[in-house]
Amino acid sequence: MATKLKSADIVIVGLGWTGGILAKELADTGLSIVVLERGAPRDTNPDFMYPTIHDELRYAQRHQLMQDVSRETLTFRNNANETALPMRQLGSFLPGEGVGGAGVHWNGTTWRWLPWDHEPLKLTLARYGRSVIPPDMQLQDWGVSYDELESYYDKFEYLCGVSGKAGNLRGQKIEGGNAFEGPRQRELRRDAHKRARHESQPRPRQDSSRERDLYRCRRARIRAAGRARGALRLCARQRASDAALRDRQAL
Ligand SMILES: Cc1cc2nc3c(=O)[nH]c(=O)nc-3n(C[C@H](O)[C@H](O)[C@H](O)COP(=O)(O)OP(=O)(O)OC[C@H]3O[C@@H](n4cnc5c(N)ncnc54)[C@H](O)[C@@H]3O)c2cc1C
Repeated sequence: MATKLKSADIVIVGLGWTGGILAKELADTGLSIVVLERGAPRDTNPDFMYPTIHDELRYAQRHQLMQDVSRETLTFRNNANETALPMRQLGSFLPGEGVGGAGVHWNGTTWRWLPWDHEPLKLTLARYGRSVIPPDMQLQDWGVSYDELESYYDKFEYLCGVSGKAGNLRGQKIEGGNAFEGPRQRELRRDAHKRARHESQPRPRQDSSRERDLYRCRRARIRAAGRARGALRLCARQRASDAALRDRQAL
């Protein structure tokens, strides 16, 4: 028989990055929120502790952070003439499962879109004119510009400790950073690298560069450059969903 649980104002299905951030932002409004996650619960300790986290058999071969396709699978076809068949083995496509979703095993590379990526039509017209766009090319803008999103990029980067080097600070090009990026309001986090006398990686990555208290995140460790495959090196990663969950539990 179905069990009727206490009602909540909001139910979020899935606790990856999207569900985690939504849960945290909505919890701040005082609404009651329940998040349903189909996979297992996870926490920094013990799930991301050494040496367990380097268990290649468990994670790289048996894909224990990913969707179990023997229980619930996805179907796939290469073109519209084929019959879509169930995937029985994961290849390069690795959907996440459990608290944190794919954010648990992603690589943490967090490039911002360039201003041009947001508005390819508008900016192509302004720079090159209509004649460079073939008549049958369906080019359109996304409807949200880089400038409109900038403060949200910034919030995300500081929330999850993206390290790197700015290439453009408030319109001024910064040597050593990405020369093509749009203006940032502030430098990326580099302080922990400096303290540990490491070179920071110029490209933006969500590799922890310092302890963070935003979203009540836990202690983060410094990660030096020169990493192996991200999927196996999870220990220093802080996940917003994890923090959001903890916040939720604390309410
Ligand atoms: C190997 C890999 C590397 C990546 N590297 C990067 C990178 O370097 N940089 C980058 O920007 N992006 C990267 N990505 C992409 C990025 O990780 C994803 O876009 C992002 O994590 C998606 O977050 P999400 O919350 O939308 O979805 P998901 O993380 O997929 O979360 C969805 C959650 O919902 C749960 N769920 C689904 N259905 C149900 C249901 N019916 N009931 C309950 N729960 C359900 C799932 O179990 C899962 O936990 C990578 C992805 C992969 C797979």
